[in-house]
Amino acid sequence: MFSQKTIQEIRNQFPILKKTVYSNPLVYIDNAATTQKPLQVIHACENYYSTINSNVHRGLHFLSQKATFHVEDVRKKIQNFIHAKHSSEIIFTKGTTESINLVASSIKIKKGDEIIISYLEHHSNIVPWQIVCKKKGALLKIIPIDQDGVLQLKDFELLISEKTKLVAITHVSNVLGIVNPVKNIIDKSHEYGALVLIDGAQVPSNLSLNVQDLNTDFYVFSAHKMYGPTGIGILYGKEKILDSLSPYQAGGEMIKNVSFEKTTYSDLPFKFEAGTPNIEGIIVWGSAIDFVEKIGVENIQSYKEKLLMYAIQRLSTIDGIQLYGCGGRDYKNRLSIISFNLSKLHCFDIGSVLDRLGIAVRTGHLCAQPLMNFFNVAGMVRVSFSIYNTFKEIDYLLEGLLKARKFLLK
Ligand SMILES: *Cc1c(COP(=O)(O)O)cnc(C)c1O
Repeated sequence: MFSQKTIQEIRNQFPILKKTVYSNPLVYIDNAATTQKPLQVIHACENYYSTINSNVHRGLHFLSQKATFHVEDVRKKIQNFIHAKHSSEIIFTKGTTESINLVASSIKIKKGDEIIISYLEHHSNIVPWQIVCKKKGALLKIIPIDQDGVLQLKDFELLISEKTKLVAITHVSNVLGIVNPVKNIIDKSHEYGALVLIDGAQVPSNLSLNVQDLNTDFYVFSAHKMYGPTGIGILYGKEKILDSLSPYQAGGEMIKNVSFEKTTYSDLPFKFEAGTPNIEGIIVWGSAIDFVEKIGVENIQSYKEKLLMYAIQRLSTIDGIQLYGCGGRDYKNRLSIISFNLSKLHCFDIGSVLDRLGIAVRTGHLCAQPLMNFFNVAGMVRVSFSIYNTFKEIDYLLEGLLKARKFLLK
């Protein structure tokens, strides 16, 4: 467990945390939406444009080789970070959303096939599959959850069959923070010959990740929720499966030979990386991974677990609070994300009062409208912690919520 001194040292690496908002110190607890960036990431950005900037792969000159080297170095870094077998299994994309769209538009789905998702999904892991199903005449099936937000595996076993071509499931719900039993789902899906895509947007830097142990076919996430830049993420896919997919976008970089009669495609990973990639984003992401590895994923996980337990304990004391997905759960199976409502107050009103106090939370449907419908609410307030948050900030949040209730219930 980190001392408060260590946390203060970590906080010092995040210049934005020194900001005040409406004359109050910023309390940033919207980390499930995006995390703040440490100095080494900010500096890497400047360093890239000051010393590396050049296009990759096509150039033979010094800078182009340097940029290419760094991009491929980060690809290997990510390979090691998630324990993939080959670095060519790491495809750079704009992020989680684009990675899911890539798979949705490239896998072979035909009329009568079935795709399974769950009630817990983010819109990015719903809408692309709806579009594919509509286009191809396939059927989308939904794994139900119970009132605590727990996936109903018995129902999943009833839904899956030889017709199932793909199961797309979130590793951790961005609303409830519950870690789903993805390994069970992957194994069961493989028994029926279905491919599995895991939406890991909330996972990297919070849980250690081994895609080979999971034996997942696809795994996707973004850099910006793990202290890295926006606009960059990956699709991990098993080599054989990626090889069997048709290209996603077409253009430069993804080809071997082009003539007007016939074009042949590059090998992995370039087959899926048409056009100039987000070179800056990739290289800067490398510094974010260094940051995470220096602190250690396990240390981040155990500190955030303490924050979570403290927050649940404190929030539970508020009269009229409804915490979602927090019923008698083993908090070791949760990330530090808590969504709630307070009496009959509108989540936007609560969010506005907190904002005036300098507290940044997420409010609304949280990109998961089906889940909001399940709980019969229009929206929720979500707080989500990061390595730089403190117990004191949780106390301040509690005060803020009490103020909001008092002010709004008048
Ligand atoms: C944030 C998030 C996404 C979308 O990620 P982008 O970076 O916006 O593409 C998808 N799924 C989950 C679970 C998320 O938390």
